[in-house]
Amino acid sequence: MEENQTMIKKDVIIIGAGPAGMTAALYASRASLDTLMIERGVPGGELMNTADVENYPGFGKIPGPELAMKFFESASAFKAETVYGAVDKVEIKDGNKLVYLADKIYQAPVLIIATGATHRKLGVSGEEELAGRGVSYCAVCDGFFFKDKDVMVIGGGDSAVEEGTYLTQFANSVTVVHRRDALRAQKILQERAFANPKMKFIWDSVVDEIQGQDQVESIKLRNVKTDEASTLAFDGVFVYVGLVPNSELFTDLGITDEQGWIITDDQMQTAQDGIYAIGDVRAKNLRQVATAVGDGSIAGQKAYDYIQTLAYQEEL
Ligand code: NAP
Repeated sequence: MEENQTMIKKDVIIIGAGPAGMTAALYASRASLDTLMIERGVPGGELMNTADVENYPGFGKIPGPELAMKFFESASAFKAETVYGAVDKVEIKDGNKLVYLADKIYQAPVLIIATGATHRKLGVSGEEELAGRGVSYCAVCDGFFFKDKDVMVIGGGDSAVEEGTYLTQFANSVTVVHRRDALRAQKILQERAFANPKMKFIWDSVVDEIQGQDQVESIKLRNVKTDEASTLAFDGVFVYVGLVPNSELFTDLGITDEQGWIITDDQMQTAQDGIYAIGDVRAKNLRQVATAVGDGSIAGQKAYDYIQTLAYQEEL
């Protein structure tokens, strides 16, 4: 422990304030546990990058950031505390979980990991150089800058198709480039996209290079079946080629699979006693707000059970 670091004890520490973390905070604090949520950005997680959510029951169609705000109100309603900062390190000491921030160390018997996932990069030339200058990973954040422009969306999953459709309200045209000839996205999203006159599709193609001086000007594609290359003029490119887990902090704990997703049982329990993982960072099939909420509620309740068992053992 550094001299300038103070140690603060809690019952439960939750890292990440997305839908999963905020639900865990609601359940744990409502069960009277001294609950801390640590967030490195703003609460909301992927909801903050989502234009509209229409598959979370009870709200009809609601903008992602608005739903995030409602979740945060619920998470804070029973005195769960939120601190803002990046976690540097996580350790286990005598059964306690130690979470290091720049100037503080938090300690608790229960740690709930809700760190989510980040959009994967394409890894092609020009992507990093032109990030924020035509290359984007967030239609909600940057869509407005492409009013009446021609944009490309890379990927064939729910994010590419849904966010591509969202972009049509600003852009002149949205061209989805997919590496296969069939989309992975849910049927309802596909049907909407195919019916939208502003949406175009380029199949069986991958991006080899993003080109431009100060801004994206053109994109070099390659057809994977014919190996034919083409360079097309575009003002922007939105990359939606999947997710990578935000789990670097936990690799030494031996709780991740070979891709970095955290393995749990159906009670959100990881391979480490008293450590739970929930939401998108967890190895699972369906990454949705609804499943994140389900995970969070289970982990919040498990935290309560864990603390009760500890208290009982101490009494013996
Ligand atoms: P995803 O489902 O993993 O899809 C990634 C897409 O990118 C796939 O079509 C994949 O092609 C393609 N891809 C991967 N690497 C590529 C590369 N190097 N070059 C070109 N294309 C590449 O990821 P996502 O769409 O971001 O969705 C993530 C999770 O969030 C999913 O579980 C999704 O269901 C969920 N989500 C749900 C909603 C909703 O319910 N409304 C909205 C957004 C996201 P292949 O198909 O060939 O593998």
